[in-house]
Amino acid sequence: MTEASVAKDAVAAAEELVVLKGVNKHFGALHVLQDIDLTIARGEVVVVIGPSGSGKSTLCRTINRLETIDSGDISIDGKPLPEEGKALARLRADVGMVFQSFNLFAHKTVLENVMLGQIKVRKADKKAAEEKARALLDRVGVGTQADKYPAQLSGGQQQRVAIARALAMDPKVMLFDEPTSALDPEMINEVLEVMQQLARDGMTMIVVTHEMGFARSAANRVVFMADGRIVEEAVPDQFFSNPRSDRAKDFLSKIL
Ligand code: ADP
Ligand code: MG
Repeated sequence: MTEASVAKDAVAAAEELVVLKGVNKHFGALHVLQDIDLTIARGEVVVVIGPSGSGKSTLCRTINRLETIDSGDISIDGKPLPEEGKALARLRADVGMVFQSFNLFAHKTVLENVMLGQIKVRKADKKAAEEKARALLDRVGVGTQADKYPAQLSGGQQQRVAIARALAMDPKVMLFDEPTSALDPEMINEVLEVMQQLARDGMTMIVVTHEMGFARSAANRVVFMADGRIVEEAVPDQFFSNPRSDRAKDFLSKIL
């Protein structure tokens, strides 16, 4: 290798934020993740799509170690996933996660929901945590709801609070697992718009979604999963207009 190509590889490695190599996972007899190799660069937006049961949620959950893996390696920003303890708590804070069901703390106000992790995990003082929480709630368009409880908000508002809560930890990467699937149709766009803006701001994002409009306009890459494998990866235009695999063709014919 020439010096120039070594330097280029070093730069490329520095740009790799999330790296999965040869990841396998079973649930009993079910081989739910099969030899997954996936590298996400800093600032990249990757949409993961595929049939129900193909392993998309499990993939997300392995990345912040809500699920263990049987073999392979996962690293975030050059560091292997820690097994447990404080290092794991810090890693989880580096990986923001937004689920289909908003998972807000029901007995805390919206403001408290966004302050809590900052104080407990990031050791922020209360005043700084509150300032940041208010700024983030403004940013996702729910600043006026700060003193309400989650149940008093619409689903779209709750999901935007969940996004603000994840952002409050200054994550290196945000994982979204079907963030709009549980929402009434009229609320989907308000959440997608917040995600679009995040993408434009340069956030590294892994998004499991069937919202093809979002994939087309925000994704740098589409990863198509079926039966626990990554079957196909391509830029959105290419994937949607010219899918290569029969599995992807079949899937797209059902959802488009
Ligand atoms: P997707 O998100 O693509 O719909 P999942 O990752 O949720 O797929 O699930 C993949 C497969 O693993 C499914 O067959 C599902 O039933 C199974 N599965 C998911 N979680 C568990 C679990 N905790 N125990 C056993 N099987 C599971
Ligand atoms: Mg899922």
